Amino acid sequence: MQSEITETAADDAVAPAKKKQKCWAFRPEWKDKYPWLRCDIIDGSEKMFCSHCEKSGKKNGFTRGSTNMRSSSLIEHSQCNDHVIAVSLFSQQTAMKSHCEKAKDILNKKLSSQLQVVFYMTKNDIACHQYEGLTELLGAVRAPYFVTREGIYWHSDSVDDMEKALESVVMKQLDEKLKGSDFIGVIIDETVNITVDKKLIIYVKMEVKRRVEIHLLGNYDVHSGTAQCIFNKLVEVLRDRDLELSRVISLGSEGCSVMMGKRAGVGALLRRESAFSIQVHCVAHRVALAQDAAKSVDQVGAYKRTVTSVYSFYKHWASRTNRLRQLTAVLSDENMTSLKQPCAVRWLSLHKAVKSMKSNWPALVMELKEDAVGGNAQAQGILGQIQPYSFIALTHTLADVLPVMTKLNLILSGLTWPK
Ligand SMILES: [Zn+2]
Repeated sequence: MQSEITETAADDAVAPAKKKQKCWAFRPEWKDKYPWLRCDIIDGSEKMFCSHCEKSGKKNGFTRGSTNMRSSSLIEHSQCNDHVIAVSLFSQQTAMKSHCEKAKDILNKKLSSQLQVVFYMTKNDIACHQYEGLTELLGAVRAPYFVTREGIYWHSDSVDDMEKALESVVMKQLDEKLKGSDFIGVIIDETVNITVDKKLIIYVKMEVKRRVEIHLLGNYDVHSGTAQCIFNKLVEVLRDRDLELSRVISLGSEGCSVMMGKRAGVGALLRRESAFSIQVHCVAHRVALAQDAAKSVDQVGAYKRTVTSVYSFYKHWASRTNRLRQLTAVLSDENMTSLKQPCAVRWLSLHKAVKSMKSNWPALVMELKEDAVGGNAQAQGILGQIQPYSFIALTHTLADVLPVMTKLNLILSGLTWPK
């Protein structure tokens, strides 16, 4: 009421005419004082509206449009029951909205932290059932967003869902990269999973910003290991990712006839679709095949058998291994290196087996002699194999050659040489 009197007085001061002129118009400064106020021109005349009353569904002069361009009408509206209720509703809605946004933000950050945990687990081959333990640990060390259990997914099914979400992001980025590369290479190999189902693992090689990148595309089920079946799966996978076969210009494989057969191998089938495609026989596998040439040397085969029998002799006997360790400590400043078994699948393993044989040989002979004296026929047999000059000479020859071959193998496989 007081402000109305003051305003009327001010109006009088501006227009001191004898007769007051009734020229009422909307004043833009009213909007500063009344944030809910809006002025629209309807049918050529100005009308004032109240946004709060409109939003809360009230029906009054300020929702229909008021033409009463006086500050007194604004004061009157701001004090009316409809408006007071509408303002209260508006402030409650605003508070609720800000509360919800804050809660949503915290939930998003919690979810993001959980995704980071799952990403770490995936990268480090940690099984899904470890997830709950990891989140409990993070809660115990008061890691942000893990202090309360609220908003944390615990079940291992959630890990599957989160992995799928992460996968979709990774695959989306990969699709973008694939789109940007004019040509791509495909590297494939047959595998089996833990339940011995046949699988086809596919990698793609592409050019990204003038650099070559290799990415895993996926590990897919295949019904059989025939070239046609593998080729069909490859076509299906590439089509799903919108990749035309004509863009595939190389096929890398481990070189078996199913892959590299001149007439009906996967590479030959691919060439029918992409005339310029070339085939690459994995270099590490080729070196491994070259190493297999040693099979024709009888001494190397006999050597492997001897090393395997030494490994088996100590494998399940803690007391023998312990005695060997003590003898090594007496004979040398270095600690005993554990005995290794040459393994047919890993062509790198013979190097480790030879290395441990070379360093453990003096202690090995002494330990085996003790067993042989005690009447152990197996120890006597092994002793007879590892004591001759030919065995020692071959150990040293292989110890010189194999590190070079192993290093070459690792480099060709894209792995690093252990320092
Ligand atoms: Zn209102």
